[in-house]
Amino acid sequence: TVQIRKLVKSFGANTVLKDINVDIAAGEVCVLIGPSGSGKSTLLRCIDGLEQIDSGVLRVNGEDLGYIEDATHYRPLSRTDRRRQRTQIGMVFQQFNLFPNMTALENITVGQTLVKRTTRAQAKQRARELLTRVGLEGHGNHYPAQLSGGQQQRVAIARSLAMDPQVMLFDEPTSALDPELVGDVLDVMRQLADEGMTMLVTTHEMGFAREVANSLLFMADGYIVERGDPREVLANPQEPRTQQFLKKVL
Ligand code: ATP
Ligand code: MG
Repeated sequence: TVQIRKLVKSFGANTVLKDINVDIAAGEVCVLIGPSGSGKSTLLRCIDGLEQIDSGVLRVNGEDLGYIEDATHYRPLSRTDRRRQRTQIGMVFQQFNLFPNMTALENITVGQTLVKRTTRAQAKQRARELLTRVGLEGHGNHYPAQLSGGQQQRVAIARSLAMDPQVMLFDEPTSALDPELVGDVLDVMRQLADEGMTMLVTTHEMGFAREVANSLLFMADGYIVERGDPREVLANPQEPRTQQFLKKVL
């Protein structure tokens, strides 16, 4: 589960996230939509620990991210604890972000051996299983440049899964792909959802939101403006801000 309470995040004078409150239950798939610049990526990056929050609470499975609460105050986590927490959250980016100088297999093993201290043999074994799972059996020795965008993105998903995350964050995972490659990536995400992964996804793929997501969040002006069943929100948005936005994108 993910709990976000009163989350505030600014860049200088620009307060991007003003008061974000979100609960994501275990196994829930949440799709986050909103205008460009509304802070969707920033929210995901805060959860992933790539951005420091100004205030508020971010909790995964009951544990505060980034700091420990003791009786009187918050204190920052040690580097080791922070690293352990970060493995609990997987993130997949629009631009894949694979290591270009490593093969697909190496991309998937490196985190396991460095962070999880898995043996090389075990890490390789796991990487092969994950490659099969994302439909890329036999592509382990390819470098990112030798793979299509859709294949690279599936390697990126496999790489995240190798860390055994409790939550997976996807930031427009199919936006950089040629249209004919989108389906393969969405299929992998759908399969992950079916297996019970807790997911928070920003995407323009409203079909995915309708068919796979359990809830749809609409974000604007620093707030979650509307939340509900994806089919209901898409068909019948309640808030004027959501109506305006959906009129443009649907
Ligand atoms: P898009 O749909 O275009 O991806 P988004 O909803 O993901 O947009 P963000 O990328 O989170 O929006 O950006 C939200 C706001 O925060 C924007 O005004 C952006 O300029 C600002 N911002 C994001 N990252 C930084 C940064 N590192 N430094 C300063 N401002 C930033
Ligand atoms: Mg973004």
